[in-house]
Amino acid sequence: GQCTLVCPVGALIETPHWHDVLHTLDSHRRISAVQVAPATRIAISEEFGMKPGTVSTGRMINALRQIGFDYVFDTNFAADLTIMEEATEFLTRFKEQKNLPLFTSCCPAWVNWLEINRPDLLTHLSTTKSPQQMHGALTKRGAFAHSLGAEFTEGKTEPYVVSIMPCTAKKDESVRPGVSGDLDHVLTTRELARMIKARGIPFSALPEDGKFDNPLGESTGAGQIFGASGGVMEAVVRTASHFIGKEDSMPLDWHQLRGVVKDVKTAEIPGVGKVAICNGIAAAQRMLKTEAWRDEFVAIEVMSCVGGCLGGGGEPKSMDPLILEKRMHSIYEIDKGSPRRRSYENQDIQKLYATELDKPNSPQAHALLHTHYAARHSKRLLLMQFLDCVDRRDG
Ligand code: SF4
Repeated sequence: GQCTLVCPVGALIETPHWHDVLHTLDSHRRISAVQVAPATRIAISEEFGMKPGTVSTGRMINALRQIGFDYVFDTNFAADLTIMEEATEFLTRFKEQKNLPLFTSCCPAWVNWLEINRPDLLTHLSTTKSPQQMHGALTKRGAFAHSLGAEFTEGKTEPYVVSIMPCTAKKDESVRPGVSGDLDHVLTTRELARMIKARGIPFSALPEDGKFDNPLGESTGAGQIFGASGGVMEAVVRTASHFIGKEDSMPLDWHQLRGVVKDVKTAEIPGVGKVAICNGIAAAQRMLKTEAWRDEFVAIEVMSCVGGCLGGGGEPKSMDPLILEKRMHSIYEIDKGSPRRRSYENQDIQKLYATELDKPNSPQAHALLHTHYAARHSKRLLLMQFLDCVDRRDG
């Protein structure tokens, strides 16, 4: 498709897919399902003139139904599932004292950077798929897809699955080896706004009563905070403390891990060790320049965008100097108001393990919810090396 430049140096381009999505929905050939990332429900408000930080979850769900999706699910459900898998993976590595510190793996730009620049460190990456990919796999191939059996016509045995993300790199993630096929299309928050406008939906006037469909729509506050820098780690700590029987003696809120300003945030987790958050890829690159991180930390979260996904390349552009703080504030407000704030408390996740996945890190969970990584060469990097070579020869 046609490309829109989203980065001043041309390193990142956004390939729009929203026309294709509308076309597929209008053809009514397949049952359709959409999932929405935690950061999108807040930033989408800015596209319709609302105050930055306005939470539009219900309005957004209503808009997605009017656009034509049959099922509207929540990526936060899969964020809770990611935590179950990643906290278990972390505790196993901790027990065996192997491949520590664990690196989080839900940011595809960070995964790409490691594969291209530091393949020697790939064993540190969690093998847990990102929430987007987990949700896609469950929707395409899990119990939900099977439950639709009667609705399928012959030859069309898969639902049409779309995700809406604050991120341009998530488009690339969906075609990675090992996860490709979990999703049909990935759209950014900005593309969602374009679809709503193209359909003539009066977004700001929509009622706020929309609810996600289940069973892939329930989530805890821990799933929601994935949208902010430090959120993944805080969510891991909340559930890991339960797994090791220390839930009552550990806080639920880890304020040291929050915030959009500091490059690196750290916290000491009693009985486990020190964890670090790299707020932006530059902070991670600086950290990896020395070897100190190897002994200092047991787990490191890296989100490539400053502020985490709420500052992602697929979010609306804003001139407000406090935009990241405002979006972040709303993310933690949703968490604070959630009846459940630890991922293991998600009732539908518990049912999913009981009926389909057995337990975290089981062979069934590995088949559907984990992935692998490999060293690779960037075409851009190879081209630059080639040009550099030509340059030198000419010189
Ligand atoms: Fe995408 Fe940025 Fe979030 Fe990484 S931090 S997943 S690049 S929006």
